[in-house]
Amino acid sequence: MNILSTKSVSTVRIVVQWCFMFWVVGIGIRFGLFVNAVESGATAPLVSRPPGVEGFLPIGALTSLKNWLVSGEIHPVHPASLVIFLAILLMSLLAKKSFCSWLCPVGTLSEAAYKIGTKLFGRNFRLWRWLDIALRSVKYLLLLLFVKLILIDMPTEALSGFLDAPYWAVSDVKMLHFFTRMSVTTVVVLTSLTFLSLFYKNFWCRYLCPYGALLGLASMASPFKIRRDSVGCTGCQRCSNACPSGLPVHSCATVSSPECTGCLTCVVNCPEQNVLAMQPAFWKRSVPVWVFPVVVIFVFMAAIGAGMASRHWHSSLSYSDYQRLIPLVPYLSH
Ligand code: SF4
Ligand code: SF4
Repeated sequence: MNILSTKSVSTVRIVVQWCFMFWVVGIGIRFGLFVNAVESGATAPLVSRPPGVEGFLPIGALTSLKNWLVSGEIHPVHPASLVIFLAILLMSLLAKKSFCSWLCPVGTLSEAAYKIGTKLFGRNFRLWRWLDIALRSVKYLLLLLFVKLILIDMPTEALSGFLDAPYWAVSDVKMLHFFTRMSVTTVVVLTSLTFLSLFYKNFWCRYLCPYGALLGLASMASPFKIRRDSVGCTGCQRCSNACPSGLPVHSCATVSSPECTGCLTCVVNCPEQNVLAMQPAFWKRSVPVWVFPVVVIFVFMAAIGAGMASRHWHSSLSYSDYQRLIPLVPYLSH
């Protein structure tokens, strides 16, 4: 049954990306209203605090993950941070680095930037191969740093010290202020990254994002991989030329690279029928193109739903806790 043509999968992905983006923006606005209520001295908030805001706290989520592995308990202050982290990790283990190309708001903006760049300059640019490889390693080095500092070096006692501290409690508010009260350094860095993203496809994701590095490594275990039928392939290289990650799809029987985001752009651009497919290793018959997007969305929603159903979604902090903690935010630097 083919309910989605190969060509229309790009449109579906863009729709999914922007729906998710608007959902995330909605969460941001709602959290902004909640914090504003506290800061303006309201006795009760107009809107409740949206737990989804904790998706912006991946470093705390990594600490929470270690705490969970060590103690068997999910820390109650920002439990949704761990649930979202695990949901995204599970997506990568099962369905490539699909979070990056189907849901991540930063990925969506990066993609929009390089498409605007292509319209403005008529093309995108590629760095020299040696520089591309050197820069791609930066995100893995950043990941290594976080893994060493948190998962390896952080003593067990320090875990609860961090997770019970006021700093972790208001880390969501600090993240909100990062966007709403930008420092000059933040503006310069974000403007530079946006500028570079106009010229180079997915500059942040490709070179600097440690979260993407982690998901890429996890994605190597995914049964889904782009597979090429070398018999039907004419070697036209449209797949490789279209791939946002710059992968040599036309010369691989299977794309195993941790850089593959499962965007299906190569599949959409292949002019031959049934030559390229996102196919699980264990399934020998051809898989309709809609299966992968369905798996991506289902895994994410099922994992978040499991977190909610198991009551690991809402923070243990009350409105009065935020009333007590938010005035301390300027004094909490670490
Ligand atoms: S190989 Fe295909 S699915 Fe993977 S990143 Fe490149 S275009 Fe996207
Ligand atoms: S676009 Fe299709 S036919 Fe052309 S090289 Fe890639 S897999 Fe082969």
